[in-house]
Amino acid sequence: MHRHTCFTLIFTFTMLLMMNACNSPSGQQTTGTPTNGQAVPEYAIVIHGGAGTITKANMTPEKEKAYTEALNKALDTGEEVLKNGGTALEAVEKTLMYLEDNPLFNAGKGAVLTNSETCELDASIMDGSDQNAGAVAGVKHVKNPIRAAIAVMKNSPHVMMAGTGADQFALEQGLDTVSNEYFFTERRLESIRKARAREEKTGMTGRRHDEKFGTVGCVALDKNGNLAAGTSTGGMTNKRWGRVGDSPIIGAGTYADNATCGISCTGHGEYFIRYTVAADVAHRMAYLGESVEEAANFVVNEKLDEKGGSGGLIAMDAKGNVAMPFNTEGMYRGYARPGERVVKIYKD
Ligand code: ASP
Repeated sequence: MHRHTCFTLIFTFTMLLMMNACNSPSGQQTTGTPTNGQAVPEYAIVIHGGAGTITKANMTPEKEKAYTEALNKALDTGEEVLKNGGTALEAVEKTLMYLEDNPLFNAGKGAVLTNSETCELDASIMDGSDQNAGAVAGVKHVKNPIRAAIAVMKNSPHVMMAGTGADQFALEQGLDTVSNEYFFTERRLESIRKARAREEKTGMTGRRHDEKFGTVGCVALDKNGNLAAGTSTGGMTNKRWGRVGDSPIIGAGTYADNATCGISCTGHGEYFIRYTVAADVAHRMAYLGESVEEAANFVVNEKLDEKGGSGGLIAMDAKGNVAMPFNTEGMYRGYARPGERVVKIYKD
C-alpha cells in the first residue's frame, strides 16, 4: 500500500475511535467516582423508611430522635454485613429485617391495617448480579416478609407468591411465623379506625394527601461490586379486596441490575406500578446513558410528579453513587460508605 494512503487510513481510523469514545453514552456519565468525589467505595448502602407529609411542624423532638436512631441502626446493621465481606443480598436482608421488626415503620411489626383490621404484607428482592428476583404479596403470618421473598427467589422456580400459598411456603421453608395480631400496634389501629370513620362520613375512599407512607427499602453494594435491592411494606391503610401495591412488583417498587443500579421505591403504589418507576430509572441509565442521579430525579420529579403520583425512591449504581429523590415533604432516608454517613428526614 502507498505510504500516504496507509497514513490516511490510520489517521481516519484513529479519529473514528476517538469520536466513538466521546459519543458513547457511558463515557459521558460514568465518571467512576461516587458523589463524594472519591474512588469507588469498598461497599455502600442506602435505605429509606417511607415518604410522605413528614415536616418539622408535625414532628416532635422525641419522634425525630427515634426515627434518626432507627435509621442509623439500620445502616449499622447493613454496614456490619458489608464490612465483613457479606453479600449485598445478605446486607439488604439483615437491614430490612431490622426495619421490619421496628414498629416505627410500615413493614412487619407496625404495618398499617386493612379495612378489615388485618395486616397483609408485601415484600420483594432483586439480585443485581444475575437479576434473579423473589416476592411475596398479602402474607399474614411470616414474621419477616423479606426473608420469604428471598426464599421464593432462592428455593422455588417462581418469582412471586401471594396470600395463603405464600405463607404456607414460608412455613415449609422453616421461616418464623406469627399470629396476625403480632404485627398490630395501637397507633395503626387508631389510624384505621379514623380512616374508616372519615370514609363513612365523607363517602370518600382512597388515599389522603397528608398520609405518611412508611414502607422500608434498601440497596446495597458489596465488596465484589454486586448490587441488591429490596422493599417491604404493609401497603396502604384501609386497603381492601386483596389490594397489592408496587412494593412486591419487580420493576415497579424494586429493581436491580449491576449494569445500571439498584432501586427501592415508596409512595402511592398504583402510580409506581403504572409507570414502572423502578425499572424506568434503570432503563434511562441503560438507554440514554444518564447517571443514576439524573435518571432518578427525572423519574420522580418530572415524570411521576406530572402524572400526580407522590413518593420517592432510593437508587445506587455499582460505583456507589446514590440518589434519593422524593416529591413529598419528607422521606426517611440515609446512606453509608466507609467513613461517610448521611441520615435525613426533611427536604434540604
Ligand atoms: N408503595 C406502598 C404501597 O403502595 C406504600 C408505601 O410506600 O408506603 O403499597
